[in-house]
Amino acid sequence: MALVVQKFGGTSVGNIERIKNVANRVINTVENGDQVVVVVSAMGKSTDELVALAKGVTEKPSKREMDMLLSTGEQVTISILAMALQERGYDTVSLTGWQAGIITEACHSNARIVNFEKEKITNYLTTGKIVIVAGFQGVTESGEITTLGRGGSDTTAVALAAGLKADRCDIFTDVTGVFTTDPRVVKEARKLSSISYDEMLELANLGAGVLHPRAVEFAKNFQVKLTVRSSMVEEEGTMIEEEASVEENLVVRGLAFESNVTKISVCGMPNNISGLSNLFTTLAANNINVDIIIQNVIDSENTNISFSINSEKLTETLEVLEGNRSVLLYEEIQHETGLAKVSIVGSGMISNPGVAGIMFKSLSDVGILIKMVSTSEIKVSTVIDQNEMVKAVETLHKEFKLDEIKVLQR
Ligand code: ADP
Ligand code: ASP
Ligand code: MG
Repeated sequence: MALVVQKFGGTSVGNIERIKNVANRVINTVENGDQVVVVVSAMGKSTDELVALAKGVTEKPSKREMDMLLSTGEQVTISILAMALQERGYDTVSLTGWQAGIITEACHSNARIVNFEKEKITNYLTTGKIVIVAGFQGVTESGEITTLGRGGSDTTAVALAAGLKADRCDIFTDVTGVFTTDPRVVKEARKLSSISYDEMLELANLGAGVLHPRAVEFAKNFQVKLTVRSSMVEEEGTMIEEEASVEENLVVRGLAFESNVTKISVCGMPNNISGLSNLFTTLAANNINVDIIIQNVIDSENTNISFSINSEKLTETLEVLEGNRSVLLYEEIQHETGLAKVSIVGSGMISNPGVAGIMFKSLSDVGILIKMVSTSEIKVSTVIDQNEMVKAVETLHKEFKLDEIKVLQR
């Protein structure tokens, strides 16, 4: 008898018909002789609707109350799914995050799971119950309800799979697997049969919304056997594993992109030993997350420093820089909004030099100006104009022949 964690995302539980479809899938697994722990998201777009509800009252809701509000979304799904299974005669219990023993750090809206008291679930499993857990939520040591960040139900599922030492964790969603890029944006995107944890982690961090980055981190750290597949179409999904076992020869395996990027340039800062550290410790102290950083030394006295942020943080960042002008001693701040980040990812880059060059040439050939670059061993990211984002992704998808991938199975 295998222990299986199955997670169903928002679209997959979007209405009563779909919840009944989920119940069927769970029942099939149980009838196959396996034990099942189910993790569900809030129904359809209901988390967005709850956010909108709060916005009707205040532009700046407290994070504690937001967590209180948003955690109700998943609570609706667990109870309805439990009822659907009970109606079919199956012994089931639904659990909120705190009832399932998911302990998080004391941080609202984007908390990390720090502990999992697994007996809360195993006690039910040993009595033969199907356990249904609310994704995306936990509780702090002091009893405060927290949420794990948007898309965090994936993390709940993988954390439970790791803690329970489940035989596998299946993420059921509205696409048939992990694609070379978002199939809703690029119609030539191809489904991958397998992808490594490291590649998936880069893609998730760089904007591929199909998996929550922390879920991939957990999977890698605890070697969870993780699959992404469709809740609606009967088709083999994508296996996320230590090393991609199919389509091994791809240099670039996927493309990720995100819009809403702003570039800030701090011009004419003194070119001294503490300039960079002053600037970035000030930003960090004000909770401003910086992505790409470029330093341009002008002469022995002056340096320009550019960095990218999420555009939502623009006003706050400018305020912080203005407020610290007397310490940072810059001459001028410039900023450019309406940018996007487009990244290529693939473990094959380690052993294939020149991939960045091919990317830059390919973009320049279609007239796309690159404004910033950052690289790691297995990725190259470029910041470009947001209006050219889709064209860039389509161009690179073709350049690296990702549209030619044949559907191979394991
Ligand atoms: P769920 O509600 O099931 O968690 P999400 O909307 O969070 O579903 O994630 C699935 C979506 O991720 C897809 O509908 C797709 O638009 C998007 N996506 C982005 N990048 C990729 C990719 N590389 N492969 C597959 N889907 C992707
Ligand atoms: N319901 C939450 C969200 O929409 C968590 C999730 O679906 O994973 O972000
Ligand atoms: Mg999701």
